[in-house]
Amino acid sequence: MVSPLKLIVTSWRWLVGKTGSARETLHHGFLVSAFFIGLISALFNSLLGLTLPAYNIVLVITSAFIALMWYRSRFHGEFQRMAWLFCALVTFVMLPGNWLFNHGATGPTLLFYLMASAYVLAVLPADPKRRGIIVIGLMFMPWALLAFEHARPGLVSSYASEGMRFLDMGFSYTLAFGLLSVVIAGYARRIHEERDIANAYAARLERLSLLDSLTGLYNHRAIHEQVEAWIRRSQSACLLICDLDHFKLINDSWGHQVGDAVLVLASRALKHTLRQHDHVGRYGGEEFLVILPGLEAEQARNLAERIRVAIGEVMMDLPGGQHLSLSASLGMTSVSATHPVSVDVLIKQADTALYQAKSCGRDQVVVMV
Ligand code: GH3
Ligand code: MG
Ligand code: MG
Repeated sequence: MVSPLKLIVTSWRWLVGKTGSARETLHHGFLVSAFFIGLISALFNSLLGLTLPAYNIVLVITSAFIALMWYRSRFHGEFQRMAWLFCALVTFVMLPGNWLFNHGATGPTLLFYLMASAYVLAVLPADPKRRGIIVIGLMFMPWALLAFEHARPGLVSSYASEGMRFLDMGFSYTLAFGLLSVVIAGYARRIHEERDIANAYAARLERLSLLDSLTGLYNHRAIHEQVEAWIRRSQSACLLICDLDHFKLINDSWGHQVGDAVLVLASRALKHTLRQHDHVGRYGGEEFLVILPGLEAEQARNLAERIRVAIGEVMMDLPGGQHLSLSASLGMTSVSATHPVSVDVLIKQADTALYQAKSCGRDQVVVMV
């Protein structure tokens, strides 16, 4: 059997909507609370004869109107319009109405005024003109009502007895606490929501700051940091520099756009040939730096050979029915746990190996340990 508490929680979640923003959820929560409070107050008032019957009729009509606003906002995506309408209704109709019919400055309107202000400030409409109207209305409404009460005390209802005031105020304090809980829960949710958005942005920016925008590989800084990290941890690894051969010729013959596309294809071929835990970055123009952890020099050489072959197999159709002919030269060196060297020394060694590969005719791997 479903427990009553679970039933209440599930119903409440359905009433406020699970998928909306924190502002929307708060708005729906407040509308639902205002609806029930309106009906309960009307019942309470008429049973105890606290207010004029006309006021109770107004309360019921207002509650029905609030239910309609909740329906439009919850199911017809009219949150913005309904939030504005409800803020205006609270500020210009419900608070003055409560003041006049519910015992003026001696009644519970101050409590509702504070609750309404907390709600309105949380869901204020985005449009600055509408925001201005609501804020000015809330700021000056109490002045106007106090002045009215002073000028026409007879038009503001008063309690028939101290006992009535006791009951009405007690009831109103409890309601006000309930409403404040709804508003504060909404604020808390909003803070969490905004923190999650900020964290997601920060994570995205951090990811972007590490990646090369053309190839999606690590950029120069990120791959350099990875090499530093490996050396700091004194782990053994092989380091490769892979440089596309005669790349300038591709740019000069087919234009930089073709050159860019070739870089993307070559980086893909490189990535697909590597193992999951290898690191690869675009070190500069058409040069890639690769860290191969946990491989002996011979195994690393074999992998470097496979990279060379994979880049040689990159296919691309060029204008005039011609086919791309691409090759790469690779320089390889290694760092061992027993003989750690600096990043600069290591990259220089790989560079020297690369230059040797170039000067020996390109399209080959040279190892320098
Ligand atoms: P080698 O075989 O000696 O390496 O000759 P190469 O032509 O590959 O080397 P070189 O250093 O002479 O030229 C590299 C060219 O790479 C020059 C530069 O315009 C080009 N390049 C660098 N970055 C990019 C890029 O992001 N896009 C394109 N399309 N070209 C780039
Ligand atoms: Mg080159
Ligand atoms: Mg180069």
